[in-house]
Amino acid sequence: MEAYKIQQHKYDVVVVGAGGAGLRATFGLAEKGLKAACITKVFPTRSHTVAAQGGIAAALGNMGEDDWRFHFYDTIKGSDWLGDQDSIEYMCREAIPSILELEHYGVPFSRTDDGRIYQRPFGGMTTHYGKGTAQRTCAAADRTGHAILHTLYQQALAHDATFFVEYFAIDLIWDNDGVCRGVLALDMNEGTLHLFRGQSVVLATGGYGRAYFSATSAHTCTGDGGGMVLRSGLALQDMEFVQFHPTGIYGAGCLITEGVRGEGGYLTNAKGERFMERYAPSAKDLASRDVVSRAMTMEIREGRGVGEHKDHVHLNLMHLGPEVIHERLPGIAESARIFAGVDVTKEPIPVLPTVHYNMGGIPTNYHGEVVQKKGDDVDAVVPGLFAIGEAACVSVHGANRLGSNSLLDLVVFGRAVSHRCAELIKPGTAHKDLPSSALDQALARFDGLRNANGGTPTAKIRANMQRTMQDDAAVFRTSESLKAGCGKISQVFDSFKDVRVSDRSMVWNSDLIETLELSNLLGQAVATMYSAEQRHESRGAHAHEDYPERDDHNWQKHTMVSVDESGKTSFDFRPVHMYTLTNEVEVVPPKKRVY
Ligand SMILES: Cc1cc2nc3c(=O)[nH]c(=O)nc-3n(C[C@H](O)[C@H](O)[C@H](O)COP(=O)(O)OP(=O)(O)OC[C@H]3O[C@@H](n4cnc5c(N)ncnc54)[C@H](O)[C@@H]3O)c2cc1C
Repeated sequence: MEAYKIQQHKYDVVVVGAGGAGLRATFGLAEKGLKAACITKVFPTRSHTVAAQGGIAAALGNMGEDDWRFHFYDTIKGSDWLGDQDSIEYMCREAIPSILELEHYGVPFSRTDDGRIYQRPFGGMTTHYGKGTAQRTCAAADRTGHAILHTLYQQALAHDATFFVEYFAIDLIWDNDGVCRGVLALDMNEGTLHLFRGQSVVLATGGYGRAYFSATSAHTCTGDGGGMVLRSGLALQDMEFVQFHPTGIYGAGCLITEGVRGEGGYLTNAKGERFMERYAPSAKDLASRDVVSRAMTMEIREGRGVGEHKDHVHLNLMHLGPEVIHERLPGIAESARIFAGVDVTKEPIPVLPTVHYNMGGIPTNYHGEVVQKKGDDVDAVVPGLFAIGEAACVSVHGANRLGSNSLLDLVVFGRAVSHRCAELIKPGTAHKDLPSSALDQALARFDGLRNANGGTPTAKIRANMQRTMQDDAAVFRTSESLKAGCGKISQVFDSFKDVRVSDRSMVWNSDLIETLELSNLLGQAVATMYSAEQRHESRGAHAHEDYPERDDHNWQKHTMVSVDESGKTSFDFRPVHMYTLTNEVEVVPPKKRVY
């Protein structure tokens, strides 16, 4: 192995990722006097959070009655009773101060006539425990993520956090006692390796949507944090739950926000019928995402799709009028024009369910601390390691996330991590020496991939993975498709042994970076397919045609999956937290879901 020179940096806390979650944590840490470094592979304001359109939920009650307890109830129901209720309570209560803070930091929210934050209705958001419709989603037009990300970046700079931009985090570094002590990263511009030491490492690396062929997420959403965690021998949680957004633009995959339906847009089939009235008579087009995606898939399967191949449906917003569209949905009008060639004031947008969000990820408690099951302790904290945002599974979304609860999750738990680290870490504490072999494994793997000399290019293996996931871990799943999918994805995993990286340089080696990303994606693709195969029920986003009912007796539990070096999976389970923090509300699961 080539002798790599490694530069060392010492911080109180190292955050990997500069999306909404990473920036909120970084800035909170710096604000509390901790020396924080934020490592990011893309420039902070290019993180996928920038693309979030519709908004961020909080029961502010600016545009009608609302209460955090209603939000709490909706989130549990949306999660199809797989969400941890203590975390959900924490999120829904803390939503209110967290959003007001954002407003004070300078997020340019849209306004009501009397100057308060504008709020729109979103799917699954109700008042009085399912009776009324809540207007709970705070929006900055249809560019909410953009507004939040820029404000948080400004705040982080103002508080003197240090950024390492275009640094690619490769692997976590551990001591012999199982404490996470830092992260190894590559400066992609200089081609140098760096060891970032921290009393804690916070993974905020985003989702792994790019394991699929058609996804609304950016090409950078390759689940690097999840990959690092799997390689550390830790388990990921609830990986079978992948959310399909009902309205990706047909062909391009770009997202058309649920906010369009919140503003009055609706779906139609080839007969021009508003078919959601049949599937969800009360919530209609604003039923939760899993319900709408399945209804669309049913319409298409039964031959009522639109277009030449009858393989998509229409989203109509012509009736809203140019003024509302211009004021509230300008970005959508632009995306539809560019990616579908459609003038939304005159024609419907062709749409199709598209992979949008990973409910599963690195398991954590509501402080953001990574947890594992260790013997009888089902919530054992992994020392030194935190995870937040889409990379994590704090399990506020359970089996299905409600729209506008993810931006909220980023901000609330990014903030929670900064509180927790301030409690646990004294600024400037000396770093313990690392065992001499601490970097060996990470370096050997890096060097091996950099010099990989097999016969299959990265792009080919990636295409095989994306096709397999798209075909066999889709909106509807069957025992047969999942079994076949497991066989195929394991083959794809194995084929990575034969990967070829043709560029050997260290500077701006995109071939190498894409290979590192693919290796992260592959572990999570295997985890997703096998987790789906073993869950014999239908819940939230996991719609299993051979087990169409939710089975609380056997399956109200979190799947924990590990994937070893050879791609072999092993399973365990953690109980769902059915208790709250304050017991102010008790949510009893009804026998059947009512929409
Ligand atoms: C098109 C779209 C629209 C959405 N709209 C909404 C919405 O309206 N409301 C809502 O609540 N949710 C929405 N979501 C979901 C939500 O935006 C995402 O879940 C959320 O932004 C993820 O944020 P994050 O901070 O976890 O990660 P990201 O924003 O994806 O950021 C990940 C960060 O990690 C860094 N990183 C990753 N790997 C590495 C590595 N190896 N080394 C160094 N750095 C690394 C990246 O550089 C980046 O800074 C939307 C999602 C999409 C795709």
